[in-house]
Amino acid sequence: MALKLYNTLSRKREVFKPIKKTQVGIYCCGPTVYNFPHIGNYRAYVAGDLLNRYLKYLKYKVKFIQNITDVDDKTIRDSQKENKSLKQFTKPFIDGFFQDLKSLNVVPADIYPKATEHIAAMVATIKKLLNKGLAYKTKNGDIYFAISKFKNYGKLAHIDVTQLKEGASSRVRADEYDKENSGDFALWKAWTKDDGKVFWETEIGKGRPGWHIECSSMSTKYLGQPFDIHGGGVDLIFPHHENEIAQAEGAEGRKFVDYWFHNEWLLVDGKKMSKSLGNFYTLRDLIGKGYNPLAIRFLLVSTHYRQQLNFTFEGLNASKNSLHRIWNFMKKLDECNGKGDAKLVDNSIKKAISAFEKCLNDDLEISGALAAVFDLIKEINISIAALSKRDADKVKKTMKLFDSVLGFIIVEEEAIGKQIQKLIDDREKARKGKDFKKADEIRDKLKKQGIILEDTPKGVRWKRA
Ligand code: AMP
Ligand code: ZN
Repeated sequence: MALKLYNTLSRKREVFKPIKKTQVGIYCCGPTVYNFPHIGNYRAYVAGDLLNRYLKYLKYKVKFIQNITDVDDKTIRDSQKENKSLKQFTKPFIDGFFQDLKSLNVVPADIYPKATEHIAAMVATIKKLLNKGLAYKTKNGDIYFAISKFKNYGKLAHIDVTQLKEGASSRVRADEYDKENSGDFALWKAWTKDDGKVFWETEIGKGRPGWHIECSSMSTKYLGQPFDIHGGGVDLIFPHHENEIAQAEGAEGRKFVDYWFHNEWLLVDGKKMSKSLGNFYTLRDLIGKGYNPLAIRFLLVSTHYRQQLNFTFEGLNASKNSLHRIWNFMKKLDECNGKGDAKLVDNSIKKAISAFEKCLNDDLEISGALAAVFDLIKEINISIAALSKRDADKVKKTMKLFDSVLGFIIVEEEAIGKQIQKLIDDREKARKGKDFKKADEIRDKLKKQGIILEDTPKGVRWKRA
């Protein structure tokens, strides 16, 4: 059965047909590195990761690109506040972003292009737009895209350009949405003294690029034009992605992107999680409260990417409990040594894989896919005591297959297992040395992590509460 994806361009689920039969190019808008992303941002990156992983599961060769916006109004403003060069200022946030992606077990992109390292490509696109009369330079050296000259403007957001006329006459320089949601938009911003040392001397003047040109230039540089899938949060549909289309299609005279993939918001109390509302948690905040980042991944993955998801600690705890169920199951599989009925196991596995794929093929319908995983766990659990080692290995292999898409089943379990084992060994050592205080402290520490120790004739065993 073929994969269907919802395409924002057509507002329909479409059968996914890549430009090259076995290869897929994806570009997902990345972070603006002026602070640490919140978990709302990570909802977008995890949605892109799920798509990337599932396409790989389907045996496509995926080229995945995610940009880093390391020059814009905000990075300039805040670097100056801190009296740092742009590079010095953005570095910790770039490092933090990569660390977070690793914690969330996001498959790394093939390339993370930085805007500051691709100015030449942007200048080349802007020159093409100027030559074609789609862009114009103002007296102070700013360069704007003239939306009235581009006939398809509005095709992604499904908006009527005539309604934007007023915006067109009151052009603004800022990248911020509230000022830029209508009218002509900046491709190039001429240097002003507020920019300090941040500028490039180029053929089109001294200045810096606008935000939108960064993404269309970097995506096509690495993926060609057209390419298959462009992703980001729904708030990027307009104006950011609309403007990317105008720039790329205006400059090259051919289609930019075939499928537009947009994730819905992570909400808090019914409002979008955002820096400006102050209702956000960073990944670090939640890890600091003792949450495993994979529980956060579970939470972000487990609601369909086009549905809004309300963040609550109740929901996060439920995710944690679901994960523990999976991890306990994996652990039990390691201990199987019975003589059960192989046929039953084969049937359960076959049924689970088929349901898993059927759901994900339907625009990444994750609830059904997760139900398939939990149904398998339930069915196998019924007779797990009798399961043979060979069958347990088959189930493990299936879980590993699922995990290539889900990314929260295997990795951490191994790491956690080692970490817990080390604490158990330390406790044993303490007990042998009659340091019962230390032994109890270790037991309590593990208990806080939801790990319960059992003294058995075979030694100390652990399980999750
Ligand atoms: P920004 O750094 O603001 O450009 O955002 C980076 C990515 O995070 C974009 O794809 C946004 O659409 C997405 N995003 C921001 N806030 C949220 C949220 N509350 N829920 C889901 N996605 C978000
Ligand atoms: Zn972008």
